[in-house]
Amino acid sequence: MQNTSDEYDVIVVGGGNAGFSAAHAAATRGRRVLLLEKGLPDMAGGNSFYTAGATRINHNGLDDVRDFVEPDERQARTVVPPYSPEEYAADLAKVTQGRNDPALTDVLVHESQAAVRWLQSLGVRYRLMYERQAYERADGSYLFWGGLHVGNVDGGEGLIRDHTAVAERLGTTVRYGVSVTGLVTEGGRVVGVTAETADGTEELRAESVVLAAGGFESNPEWRKQYLGDGWENAIVRGTPYNTGAVLQAALDVGAARGGDWGSAHSVQWDAECEENESNRVLTNRLTRQSYPLGIIVNNEGRRFLDEGADFRNYTYAKYGKVILQQPGSIAYQIFDATLRPMLRTEEYDMPGIGVHVADSIEELAASIHVDPVRLATTITEFNDSIDRSLPFDPTVKDGRAAHVDPPKSNWASPLETGPFYAYPVTCGITFTFGGLKATTDGQVIDTNGDIMPGLLVCGEMLGGLFSGNYPGGSGLAAGMVFGRRAGQIA
Ligand SMILES: Cc1cc2nc3c(=O)[nH]c(=O)nc-3n(C[C@H](O)[C@H](O)[C@H](O)COP(=O)(O)OP(=O)(O)OC[C@H]3O[C@@H](n4cnc5c(N)ncnc54)[C@H](O)[C@@H]3O)c2cc1C
Repeated sequence: MQNTSDEYDVIVVGGGNAGFSAAHAAATRGRRVLLLEKGLPDMAGGNSFYTAGATRINHNGLDDVRDFVEPDERQARTVVPPYSPEEYAADLAKVTQGRNDPALTDVLVHESQAAVRWLQSLGVRYRLMYERQAYERADGSYLFWGGLHVGNVDGGEGLIRDHTAVAERLGTTVRYGVSVTGLVTEGGRVVGVTAETADGTEELRAESVVLAAGGFESNPEWRKQYLGDGWENAIVRGTPYNTGAVLQAALDVGAARGGDWGSAHSVQWDAECEENESNRVLTNRLTRQSYPLGIIVNNEGRRFLDEGADFRNYTYAKYGKVILQQPGSIAYQIFDATLRPMLRTEEYDMPGIGVHVADSIEELAASIHVDPVRLATTITEFNDSIDRSLPFDPTVKDGRAAHVDPPKSNWASPLETGPFYAYPVTCGITFTFGGLKATTDGQVIDTNGDIMPGLLVCGEMLGGLFSGNYPGGSGLAAGMVFGRRAGQIA
């Protein structure tokens, strides 16, 4: 089956945050847009659906964001430190160790607030993320931290709901259950796609095609091939549909690879909850992100990383890999009764959570099958090495270190008050960093270095921004910034 080539101007492949952003930008220019999504409506929305909606943008403090976030009575006693484009760029360079593409970075750090404002003007709702990115101080005021302050109303679910409503209002045709398998070219130009549907194979044509079909994190063979041995065992946090099929379709017609194909975003993820893969009800609640407050040990009872190296936003995306490399690809986050009330409620009070609780360290060790003497020694050495002259303060990098090997650089608090808690974590893969090479407008570049007419890319499929690590909230920001840009020229 084939559509008439003048039915649509733009085909967008993939209905996540990036694809919808591209579709809206094209539709508001009067382009007739067809968005093709592999999932049926009950499985749609890609990884974007699973997110907390946290979106990293440049801004100048609370007064600069007040007019596009939902009202909240706490705002009168809230401090939101400004986050400049320069700080954003420095954070990207820091976590990627300078491997971030400078041109893409420059666009992202300067246009992220404008892109959020634009989406909000269309009907996508935002708010300040008190529960994840702020600490309440003793006087009842709130201090935001870590450069990541704004998020979607109702998280990723709300984001996709809002996007879908905007697409409908702008007249975009969204087709679900359509799996794109190839790109159609004519005279050196991309003119359409081939796709599988419940009714068979179709060829769909348009003037330009925007690829927004995610990375290859859901493909165990590709994970092993590109990320290395062991990665086939990682748990998929998000959609099962991002298998790299559309990346392959683009490579098949000559597109060049962009970015780092050898690394991925991965986090600490509940290892014992039975339904811990692509879970659309628990979504992001399966992650365990309060580790900077406690310690993490492997199944030999030993610490192996600096839990307090930096704010969680700058370490969480690389620590999944470190867990994968531990014996059995498992580790345990340990807290005591003093720390337990400070853990993120939505994660650590999750229904069905994997947790072990005991009145003594020895009993805790027995419960998680770790040598009790070794675990007790690790904890005693940790407690004894803490520099207690500095106050414990999770709103800043407090410098309160534990001088053990490996050190804990901030937020060291002795584990000495029972009951004690152990949360088993494994490696949950979020998304892969390798993608296609493109201009800052998303025009795909071929292996000869030339722009491929008719072909654009955005979102996880656009390679170059991230490598090895990632500053929290920049995936959604990049999706909207580069999706919007692609849609503006599609
Ligand atoms: C649990 C979790 C929490 C996260 N939290 C955050 C957060 O709070 N903030 C943040 O910035 N980032 C977060 N991320 C990362 C974020 O999800 C991604 O960076 C972002 O959503 C990518 O958007 P995208 O549109 O490129 O991809 P996706 O949202 O994954 O969309 C790709 C779409 O393409 C479709 N598709 C795939 N193959 C085909 C095909 N062959 N044919 C047709 N369609 C196809 C998929 O079904 C999917 O709908 C999180 C990710 C996960 C998994």
